[in-house]
Amino acid sequence: MNFGVLGSGIIGLTTALELQKHYPNAQVSIIADNFNEDTTSYVAAGIFRPSTSFMGPTVDITQKWITDAFNYWDEIRRSKEAPLAGVCQLSGYIFSSISPKITRNHFIEKLLPIYRQATEEELKLCHGDWKYGSFFTTCLTESRLFLPYATKKFLEAGGKVVRQHVHSFSDLNEKFDVVVNCTGLGARELCNDQQLVPIRGQVFKVRAPWIKTAFYGDYDTYIIPGFETVTLGGCRQFDSYNMNLCKYDSMAIKERCYEMLPSLKRAEVVRECVGLRPHRAIVRVEGEKIKRTDGSILKVVHNYGHGGYGVTTAPGTSQHAVQIVRDMLTSNSKL
Ligand SMILES: Cc1cc2nc3c(=O)[nH]c(=O)nc-3n(C[C@H](O)[C@H](O)[C@H](O)COP(=O)(O)OP(=O)(O)OC[C@H]3O[C@@H](n4cnc5c(N)ncnc54)[C@H](O)[C@@H]3O)c2cc1C
Repeated sequence: MNFGVLGSGIIGLTTALELQKHYPNAQVSIIADNFNEDTTSYVAAGIFRPSTSFMGPTVDITQKWITDAFNYWDEIRRSKEAPLAGVCQLSGYIFSSISPKITRNHFIEKLLPIYRQATEEELKLCHGDWKYGSFFTTCLTESRLFLPYATKKFLEAGGKVVRQHVHSFSDLNEKFDVVVNCTGLGARELCNDQQLVPIRGQVFKVRAPWIKTAFYGDYDTYIIPGFETVTLGGCRQFDSYNMNLCKYDSMAIKERCYEMLPSLKRAEVVRECVGLRPHRAIVRVEGEKIKRTDGSILKVVHNYGHGGYGVTTAPGTSQHAVQIVRDMLTSNSKL
C-alpha cells in the first residue's frame, strides 16, 4: 500500500501515525509546504477543551472523536513518552460573570477525571466579579514538542516527508492508493471549500513559571500554562486573514490577563504569534473519489476544519479518517 498525507500540522501527523499503526508494511508519505513553527498547530496553547459548538456529522460521532482523542492523549501522558511528546496534565478554572452556560461543557463533564462547579471561595481566586465557574482537570499537548516528536516517530517507522505546495490533487505525481487531506485552512483553496473560514487568533507566550493553573475569563480571555511558557490570549476574529500582529489586540490581551492575574505584569514576553484557526461548522471527515485532469480517479479522505479545537480532537478524527481509508479499500466502501 502507498498512502499520501497532505499536511504536517497536528492533524496530518496524527493521521500519518495512525496509518502506520494500521498498515505497518505500507509506505506513508507526508506532503506539506510548511512544518513545525510555520503551522497553525504550533501557535495553539494545546489545552484539551472542545467548545460546546464543536461539531462533526452527528452528536454521537463528535462525542466519539472527543472521547477517543482524550484517551489517546491521556495514554501518552501516563507513559514515559509524556515529556518528549509534550503531553501533561493541567487543571484550571472557567469563570464568567455573564452566564452559567459558559462554564458548562456536555462533551467533557463526564469524560475528564474532574469537572465540577467552582465553590464561592474559588470564584475569588482571580480578580474580577466572577459569578459562575467550573474547575476541571484535563490534558495539554504542546505542539512545539509534539510536532517534532511525531515527525521523528513517523520517520523512524519508515515514513517519508516531502516539501511541496499542492495546488490540486492532479499535482500529485506518485501513485497513492489513498490520500488523506489534512491541509487545515489550505483546503479552502485545494477543495474550493467556501465553508472553511479562518478565525484569527493572537497570543503571547510569556515566561511565568509561577503560574501552574489555567484560567478562562469572559471575552476570550485565557491564561494557559504549558511546558516552558504560559499562553495569554486571546481573540477570535471571524473571516480575518490578517497574519500580522495587531497592537490593539496585544494591548487588549495584556489588559484582560493582567486584570485577572496582576503577577503576569512581571512575566517576560518570549514571543507573540498569530494563527488562523481553520473553522468549518461541521468538521469534514469523509471520503471522496476525485477525478484528476488525466482522467484517473484518486481516493481521498478529508480530515480538516477543526477550528480552535484541532489539538484537542486530532487523534479522534484521525482514527475516524483511517477507518474510512480501510472502508474505501474494502468492499464496505459506500462511495
Ligand atoms: C491562537 C490559537 C490558539 C489555539 N489553541 C488551541 C488549544 O488550546 N487547543 C486546541 O485544541 N486547539 C487550539 N487551537 C486550534 C489548533 O491550532 C488548530 O485546530 C489546529 O492547529 C489545526 O491543525 P491542522 O493540522 O488542521 O492545521 P495546520 O497546523 O495549519 O497544518 C496544515 C498543514 O497543511 C499544509 N498545507 C496546507 N495547504 C497545503 C497545500 N496546498 N499544499 C501542501 N501543504 C499544505 C500546511 O503546510 C501544514 O503543514 C488554537 C489556534 C490558535 C490560532
